[in-house]
Amino acid sequence: MLPANLPDAVRDALLAPLVDHHCHGVRRDEVSRAQFELLITEGAAPAPPGTTHFDTPAGVAIRRWCAPVLDLEPHASPAVYLARRLELGAGEVNRRLLRAAGVVAFLVDTGLEEPDLLTAPEMGRHGGAAADEIVRIEQIEQDVAEVAPLAVDYMDSLAEELAARAARAVAFKSIIAYRHGLDFDPSRPSRGSVIAAANRRLADPKARLTDPVLLRHLLWAAVDVARDRGLPMQFHTGFGDPDVELHRADPAMLTVFVRALQPLNVPVVLLHCYPFQRQAAYLANVYPHVYVDLGLTLTHTAAGGARVLEEMLELVPFHKQMFSSDCYGVAETCHLGALYFRRGLGRVLAARIDEGEWSVSDAARVAHMIGSGNARRVYRL
Ligand SMILES: [Zn+2]
Repeated sequence: MLPANLPDAVRDALLAPLVDHHCHGVRRDEVSRAQFELLITEGAAPAPPGTTHFDTPAGVAIRRWCAPVLDLEPHASPAVYLARRLELGAGEVNRRLLRAAGVVAFLVDTGLEEPDLLTAPEMGRHGGAAADEIVRIEQIEQDVAEVAPLAVDYMDSLAEELAARAARAVAFKSIIAYRHGLDFDPSRPSRGSVIAAANRRLADPKARLTDPVLLRHLLWAAVDVARDRGLPMQFHTGFGDPDVELHRADPAMLTVFVRALQPLNVPVVLLHCYPFQRQAAYLANVYPHVYVDLGLTLTHTAAGGARVLEEMLELVPFHKQMFSSDCYGVAETCHLGALYFRRGLGRVLAARIDEGEWSVSDAARVAHMIGSGNARRVYRL
């Protein structure tokens, strides 16, 4: 799985247990072929007639690397692979693939609230790992909006609920990239504008929150709680499902907001980032409280992932990058995220050592930092 020319110390560091600092639950039930195909793509539509989502970098990677975990030959056909999946059952498949990822702690974004997904403690049990919760702030807002009778109650309840949920979590996460775009006004909105917007919101509280004033209010209310409790704030950036407008998910758009958070000592974690990994690496380079990862990028770019990692590592300080699988739906996405992280980083480190740029001990140290050490420090695990 790793390059053949790696020194033992670097190999050991890469194979050491990972902290998966951002992931989601995988499904607890058996899935049909059509469901499985939708869960291995960020797209929301079936492949065109006569084609398959297995003909993607991630699809081929599943046949190559996940098939042996289910006792099949590498490169098993999609039909054989999915038949074996059904034969073993979802519980066994989840246990095998999550454990194959070699993760020691899952930090689970629980904001999707789908009953078919494993909860954070269940992810831990299936994967033989510890598990902690990351709270999605837009989900908290939805819960509050649905029960608040008046705009003033809405504001008070939001602050209380954020504080209550933060007490059981290791970080907040925002999907403002999806709800608005990262090109939001970075200033804190006035109380008057928030009350006016909240009155409009409470007329239709079940709708998805897209009001820019309330999204900013939510963000700043979460910043206040994060500062008090020393919690990092994760932000979706870069590619994702078709709800995102990619050109408005460039993390560089967060620059002024990031600057405003610097004196508050709230760590900002830029998730995924692709294809803006260079912009993210720049922000992590110049702002002391900014961290980055590649998340599901490595699962979806698969064999090409090493090049993406290489670009991130052009500029990112090594104490600023973290591993995540961003797995969701099927446990294959966890195994592949971990596998392509280790393979890709192994390739980059082997090249640095071969070129005489890095010592073996530096390469091993950086592998430990990015694989688990940085996340332990940032999330106080
Ligand atoms: Zn995610």
